Amino acid sequence: MLIIGSGPAGYTAAVYGARAMLDPILIQGIQPGGQLTITTEVENWPGIKEIQGPDLMKNLEDHAKAAGAKIEHDVIRKLDLDKFPFVAYGESDTQYEAKSVVLATGAQAKWLGLDSENKYKGFGVSACATCDGFFFRGQIIAVIGGGNTAVEEALFLTNFATKVILIHRRESLRAEKILQDRLFKNPKIEVKWNSKVRDIIGTENPLGVEGIVIEDVNTQKLENLSCKGVFVAIGHSPSNELVKDQLETHQGGYIVTQNNSTQTSIPGVFAAGDITDFKYRQAVTAAGMGCMAALEAERFIAEIAK
Ligand code: NDP
Repeated sequence: MLIIGSGPAGYTAAVYGARAMLDPILIQGIQPGGQLTITTEVENWPGIKEIQGPDLMKNLEDHAKAAGAKIEHDVIRKLDLDKFPFVAYGESDTQYEAKSVVLATGAQAKWLGLDSENKYKGFGVSACATCDGFFFRGQIIAVIGGGNTAVEEALFLTNFATKVILIHRRESLRAEKILQDRLFKNPKIEVKWNSKVRDIIGTENPLGVEGIVIEDVNTQKLENLSCKGVFVAIGHSPSNELVKDQLETHQGGYIVTQNNSTQTSIPGVFAAGDITDFKYRQAVTAAGMGCMAALEAERFIAEIAK
């Protein structure tokens, strides 16, 4: 079993794969440990009240190794799903052959690209309300974007914030109508239409956000808004480069899997975590899907051996 990706989905597939004697090899990719290595406290991994993201990922890697999985510090540049066994080509010039493949390459949040956004990432600027909303109890929060994610995050953040300001670059939302209805009915949410974020301002020592500068796209008028948290929700890009021309995708590039399964459009190829999940995007759901993928790979390999 070849596992591509080293987030919670990949490592969990490796633990289950090793225990099922599937000789799993996990390829870590460019960012070993994935998105959680760029977060700070994780407070929603069941069984551990609080842990730093990088520590959680180190624990998962150690667990996979202890279970017997082989962990390779390599990057897959090409994956050939036409052949069987499937063949993956590593940057290290290693060629990996496998009877089943678990794709766990994850996704990347899209960012605005401001220097100040980069500076305050993890210090008031976040791309995950479920992960970080809790830190802004009793504060004003700004959410950037107009899609389903932005609206869902704005609604969720009203559980913590005294006020949520949604900032959108146009005068209508892309989000589903039902979500828009909920948004407009929520007295804690204010929408700033036709507005772009020009800058995020804050303190140096300690690093922390104090507000944002927005620009009205029609009048170019600038406005300062006070807020302690800035949630950027302008979409995610699934990391699908290896397979986007070989597997069925939907919702902007996410891999299609069968209902209640990680099975992709090619038998023996499974997708787990953020590469397929545009809805939940949690470490624990990714881990669950990694488990499903390994169990399904085990069944697939048993079937072809018959
Ligand atoms: P989307 O691509 O749907 O929306 C992104 C939003 O961010 C758009 O409103 C876009 O504006 C705005 N945006 C993009 N780039 C910038 C920028 N540089 N500056 C300012 N604003 C920007 O992404 P989502 O993450 O919301 O959703 C991704 C997919 O996942 C969708 O298909 C969505 O339906 C799905 N989804 C489904 C959910 C569910 O079913 N419950 C929950 C969450 C997501 P503009 O509108 O002007 O392009």
